[in-house]
Amino acid sequence: MNFFSCTRAELALLLQQADIPSIHCEALYKNAYRHGVLSTPWSGPHSTSKDLDAFFSAPSPSGDAWSFALPVFESPLESTEDYALKFGVRLADGLLVESVLMPEKTRLTLCVSTQAGCRQACSFCHTGRMGFTRNLSAAEIVGQVLQAERWAAEHPEWLLRAGLPVTQRVTNLVFMGMGEPLDNLEALRSVLEIVLDPFGLQLAPRKVTVSTAGHLEGLREFVDWKTGVQIALSLHAVDPALRRKIMPIEGRFPVAQVLAFFKEGLASGMLKPPLVQYTMIAGVNDGLEIAHQLVALVREVKPKVNLIPFNAFPGSAFRAPTREQLFAFQAILKEAGIPTSTRFSKGKDIQGACGQLHI
Ligand code: SF4
Repeated sequence: MNFFSCTRAELALLLQQADIPSIHCEALYKNAYRHGVLSTPWSGPHSTSKDLDAFFSAPSPSGDAWSFALPVFESPLESTEDYALKFGVRLADGLLVESVLMPEKTRLTLCVSTQAGCRQACSFCHTGRMGFTRNLSAAEIVGQVLQAERWAAEHPEWLLRAGLPVTQRVTNLVFMGMGEPLDNLEALRSVLEIVLDPFGLQLAPRKVTVSTAGHLEGLREFVDWKTGVQIALSLHAVDPALRRKIMPIEGRFPVAQVLAFFKEGLASGMLKPPLVQYTMIAGVNDGLEIAHQLVALVREVKPKVNLIPFNAFPGSAFRAPTREQLFAFQAILKEAGIPTSTRFSKGKDIQGACGQLHI
């Protein structure tokens, strides 16, 4: 069992069953997540306990030994345009996924992967061409945050180059890397608990965004967790036939049903307005008449819309729209009262931008 897959409540219960005061649980968490003592948190400077030594030396409840292993960050590629860093993340079984660290003014945002590959096969996404290998464990996802923070702490020159203080930690977390997060609910639930935990990574819910291609079944379970984190809904097409063509998930969970779910969730206070992501592909979904249809489709869920010009990758026949087309499309949404921004993704030159991750 990996320590970094355990929520504080799960760990407290296990300690309690071993007659160890649960106060140790908070110290363990603080050591691991705040002080970066990753290997032997119980014998670090902030807590010592023979009982804990014995607890972690004994087999874990799942019968194997306790592990404190984290995925290994390999061969970072740094963007020459915006200092974004793309890491290869080597998992214990040899698989490789990717994380992207993006500095911006006072923020340091990490984009994490939740699956090796992806089942959803969106045609504008390089990850979607890889097929699906497996879900990542909670430890493999949380480990991306810990390793990114460790890497930044060990490379103050990069932080300074990017205009950030040398003590900068990850401030924002986006689940927009490889995989559909709501297709890996068990791990996602633990990860969110750990990153929002005041003794864990201490991120505020508004600084955490979970992206989904519209996995309605996952969304239904997700809202019950009441985490308060932002949902980013990847819409990308208004016409159901076109959406189905570029996002096969439309066949299983039509976006009209997903938006109806958001509408109900807004009315009951269970959901916040989503961030709608719309990748603009020249000649496919960037027509100005489509902008009007988009307004009509999403208006009732009171979204913010993020327009993302398509990011090219090897083998893709798609192109990004011109800037004029992008801004004309944006103007229509804004005139209709929908807050709309354009996102020129970071890390394009290192194939680290939206839709470019691929091993
Ligand atoms: S866009 Fe997201 S959901 Fe679609 S294939 Fe890529 S990673 Fe999967």
